[in-house]
Amino acid sequence: MSNVYRRLGIRPIINANTTLTRLGGSLMPPPVLDAMRQAARAYVDVFELEAAVSRRIAVLTRNESALVTSGAAAGLFLAALGAQTGPDPGAISARQRLGPGAAARREFVVQTAQRNPYDLALTLAGARLVQVGNVWLTESSEVESAIGPRTAALVFFAGAHLASGALSFAEFAEIGRGAGVPVIVDAAAQLPPRENLWRYTQAGAIAAVFSGGKGLRGPGPSGLILGESTFVEACRLHAFPRQRLGRPMKLGKEEIAGLLAAVEWYLERDEAAEVNRCEDVVGGWVRALHGLPGVSACRDFPGEAGRPLPRVIVSLHAGGTLTGASLRDALLASETPVDVAIAGDRSIYLNPELLQPGEEETVVVSVQRVLRELAPIGVPEETAKT
Ligand SMILES: *Cc1c(COP(=O)(O)O)cnc(C)c1O
Repeated sequence: MSNVYRRLGIRPIINANTTLTRLGGSLMPPPVLDAMRQAARAYVDVFELEAAVSRRIAVLTRNESALVTSGAAAGLFLAALGAQTGPDPGAISARQRLGPGAAARREFVVQTAQRNPYDLALTLAGARLVQVGNVWLTESSEVESAIGPRTAALVFFAGAHLASGALSFAEFAEIGRGAGVPVIVDAAAQLPPRENLWRYTQAGAIAAVFSGGKGLRGPGPSGLILGESTFVEACRLHAFPRQRLGRPMKLGKEEIAGLLAAVEWYLERDEAAEVNRCEDVVGGWVRALHGLPGVSACRDFPGEAGRPLPRVIVSLHAGGTLTGASLRDALLASETPVDVAIAGDRSIYLNPELLQPGEEETVVVSVQRVLRELAPIGVPEETAKT
């Protein structure tokens, strides 16, 4: 199965972390792989394919319109261009040449508390980010007074992990509506729950951007802009396969077909059963790890990126030499490499979401072995002092 990696001397990794690009995103389920394989067997008019897939995805996701992109970051890039120009060919042309009027609306209002590495995709599209509030607090009035004639859009980054200190989506969207300024939502990692595919756009966002290679389990280089027709059409006019600014963010016919199959697969999937599976694994991990010398383990909720999935937080007692980072490194260097997230100085997260059948056992055995090998790992703080 992993011959392609083993031939290169590269060991496959068990992903108990999350859908990380550096680990290859996610693993595509069989219907997605089948669709890609079928798409690879014939030439096709890519404009026609992209349009047909987008129409179908729009219907499936209860949105007016959709655009397939080469990732959520590419979606942010195209959304930032669409917000600057609208669907007007003259404005698009001016934007490309940086001609007169190209910079008329280039300001994008973002909350300081939500700044993150992906907002660079907006900057790449020539956006000037206007930051409001601070990392602790954002006032509605600050957003209101940041809006002016040069404002192209307000950008909201969704997820409980980006919510602290920021206005909620409802509050932010209300300000946009009041000022007549479109609101774009980066919801790249906000699946599950599947309702998010229509929640933001039904609640007033002009568009929401999703990653195809995260929760949707589509091809790594795929993503979606979902939203109002006029806006999505404006984004499309900048996008591949047109020879415009979005041309470097290219997709293959295989990814386009694969993303549709992923959306279909995702919408049919039993989310409650998936949560139950994760709860079972989490329960088993906690029982197996809690109380090992120097270790406590408990269920953590919500999970990665604030999504409604459980995970385990494994904490090392104080006084030991082992840190969360050294435990993570040891797991990655072990016989069956397991990638996990660090959760502060002395803890790691174990996430069951992306495991293949049977891997939950491998993960817990690896963690137990690494903990045994690296022991002794301290004692509870109170004991250490006496
Ligand atoms: C992952 C992520 C992106 C980028 O998604 P890609 O599909 O990998 O381009 C953008 N924004 C946020 C908040 C993300 O978590």
